[in-house]
Amino acid sequence: MAKLQFYNTLTRKKEEFTPLTPPTVTTYSCGPTVYNYAHIGNLRTYVFMDELRRTLKHAGYKTLSVMNITDVGHLTSDGDDGEDKMQTAAKKQNKSPEEIADFYSAIFFKDLERLNILLPETVAKATDNIPEMIEFVQTLCDKGYGYETEDGIYFDISKFDGYGKLSRCNLEDALAGARVAVNTQKRHPADFALWKKAEKNHIMQWKSPWGMGYPGWHIECSAMGKKYLGARFDIHTGGVDHIPIHHENEIAQSEALEGHRVVNTWMHGEFMLVDGGKMSKSLGNVYTVDDLISRGYSPLAFRYFCMNTHYRNKLNFTFDGMSGAATAYGRLRGILSSCKTAPNADNAVAQKIAELKGSAIAAVYDDLNYPLALGEMWTMAKLPACREIYDAAAELDALFGLDLCVPPKTADSDIPDEVKQLADKRLEARKAKDWAASDALRAQIDKMGYVVSDGKDGYEIKKK
Ligand code: AMP
Ligand code: ZN
Repeated sequence: MAKLQFYNTLTRKKEEFTPLTPPTVTTYSCGPTVYNYAHIGNLRTYVFMDELRRTLKHAGYKTLSVMNITDVGHLTSDGDDGEDKMQTAAKKQNKSPEEIADFYSAIFFKDLERLNILLPETVAKATDNIPEMIEFVQTLCDKGYGYETEDGIYFDISKFDGYGKLSRCNLEDALAGARVAVNTQKRHPADFALWKKAEKNHIMQWKSPWGMGYPGWHIECSAMGKKYLGARFDIHTGGVDHIPIHHENEIAQSEALEGHRVVNTWMHGEFMLVDGGKMSKSLGNVYTVDDLISRGYSPLAFRYFCMNTHYRNKLNFTFDGMSGAATAYGRLRGILSSCKTAPNADNAVAQKIAELKGSAIAAVYDDLNYPLALGEMWTMAKLPACREIYDAAAELDALFGLDLCVPPKTADSDIPDEVKQLADKRLEARKAKDWAASDALRAQIDKMGYVVSDGKDGYEIKKK
């Protein structure tokens, strides 16, 4: 197995990676809360998860990875206030939380597929693991870490030595930083909910030793990590926003329960900004993969855009930047396609290509330095066209996941849903012989950059 180095948020150091039980590497990634479409920032974090898993596999390890799907318990604040995000979306859309979860999960998985993000070996829904969460909370109470109030069971952070060690804030900071508690029965304002008691009108609730209720968000990941990976595992990933609350609380719960360190390496992906600022609905800059597709960018061009910035650096999304990435990605693929049928290189060039390939791999093994690896790929691509370049790129693509040597996909999944819906409407209009409506819809589809043609049994959509 090759040597790898990863930056550990816990120690703030780049460390040589030593798995607990080689050749297997166990990883846990905080998954999406499926109450809405995943935006390109969320997806950047899953591209980072994929960079890590592909690197581990390339280095000869067997990955045993878990990603959860949060379909209950994530409140509108990351703390314990507000409504459950799933419940709010369900009420708004007049659907059940399960319908909401199924709808957005399906789109999330489609996005992962379009971005060539390999699915973790285990994908687990929070609602399928409630008994494990209840047991976890009960054990924490038995050990004296959990206590009951009128509205739920809380974790007493003052009982856990080392609270704040991930974000490097001490107990006093945590207490001072916490907002004035809504629940005055909490022992400390920064104590967090392990389990919430449900009011009658709360849609999702389960029977527990503390009456009907639902889990806190943080306990989900601790309980699922334990169930699927055991009492110790190698790597835990997520976005940097999770460091101060979610992951701090996960550490407190899991280590209090086990009595020892549970996660060896904590890895966090930096945020994606849009036009230099935060993505927000009110600014109208929360983009999805479908939005990019409807503007003519392929999902893999977006993957390329993400991979050009190291996962620990902020990445500013602009359409200019995205266009630049799409052009570069297209050019690289074009060069490689001409190398496929090119003659072999002479010895000196072949040697140079082998060296560049080696240094691309070494860059990735050094804390996932994908931007440097892509740079080496480009240096190679600028050499006189030869078959060796194509072969090296095909090999490196196991790490890149960019389909560098694969003909472009014209899969149905690349057509935005909005375009498909318009085409469905147009089919209906045609069936009703409403030619004016049919023409208007065709024009609308055309404006979005797609051509619809009629077939025997329906229609076919192609990118212009
Ligand atoms: P959520 O669905 O809100 O639980 O988020 C899913 C993942 O996306 C988490 O790992 C977050 O840390 C991450 N995330 C949220 N916003 C951004 C962003 N702007 N850039 C990168 N990652 C993000
Ligand atoms: Zn989590």
